[in-house]
Amino acid sequence: MLVNATAMLKSAEKGHYAIGAFNTNNLEWASSILDAAEELQSPVIIQCTSGAAKWQGSYKVCADIVKQLVEDKGITVPVALHLDHGTYEDVFKCIEAGFTSVMYDGSHEASFEINLERTAEVVKAAHAKGISVEAEVGGIGGVEDGVASKGELADPEQCKAIADLGVDFLACGIGNIHGIYPDNWEGLSFERLGEIKALTGDLPLVLHGGTGIPVEQINKAITLGICKLNINTDLQLAFAKATRAYIEAGKDLDGKGYDPRKLLKPGRDAIKDRTKELMLQFGSDGKGWN
Ligand SMILES: [Zn+2]
Repeated sequence: MLVNATAMLKSAEKGHYAIGAFNTNNLEWASSILDAAEELQSPVIIQCTSGAAKWQGSYKVCADIVKQLVEDKGITVPVALHLDHGTYEDVFKCIEAGFTSVMYDGSHEASFEINLERTAEVVKAAHAKGISVEAEVGGIGGVEDGVASKGELADPEQCKAIADLGVDFLACGIGNIHGIYPDNWEGLSFERLGEIKALTGDLPLVLHGGTGIPVEQINKAITLGICKLNINTDLQLAFAKATRAYIEAGKDLDGKGYDPRKLLKPGRDAIKDRTKELMLQFGSDGKGWN
């Protein structure tokens, strides 16, 4: 069932578990993620960046694929379709396209005041249509769709100011970065996470760049208030590894092994298996209707 992400994240905040927000790239991704969620009876967020929407054709194509899969596969668990790192303009395109949740990433705007002002406008427009809103304070390191930032720690007072606008969940930099973590990465700042949580109360907090953070640190972050974990690179690596194994074993040259339904199947299965592992790690399994 396609819903917004508010209720599922509130339940996660109360229950001290987290919901995976998995990035989709195409039909293979969306289908595998939905199968994993249904098998484990886990709520799930499927999210799409502007780059992945362009790859698929448009936000509308992405929304229609996810909506129709949910319906035709008879998915019973709550599924939110979320815009990941949207600009102000992207947000309105996604509201139009049928997304049930949006992230307005105002952390790259010229000033915090612009972020604040535009987040308020997004909250008003999205809530009028029952769509949930994620906002961001401070940059998150690494590169996502060509947008880089220094990975600063979010300012707790700024987090409170954004929270007070009525956003449904908030992304805040706590030392996390997008992509693969460098060897000299210093780890998450639990001190900063605690300071932010103290000022934002029961607002669900979001951890971006979930790939490659040691499991103990993820678990600790969940106990301290992280309710949404963004997963992108992890599933890309799982897909690439399985596809590489198929080709290196020469299976694409064996009979009709070149058939895309055979060629893509190992990667598709790998996405589903890895998504299930992560859902079990985050504790969202069996929480479909909590
Ligand atoms: Zn992100």
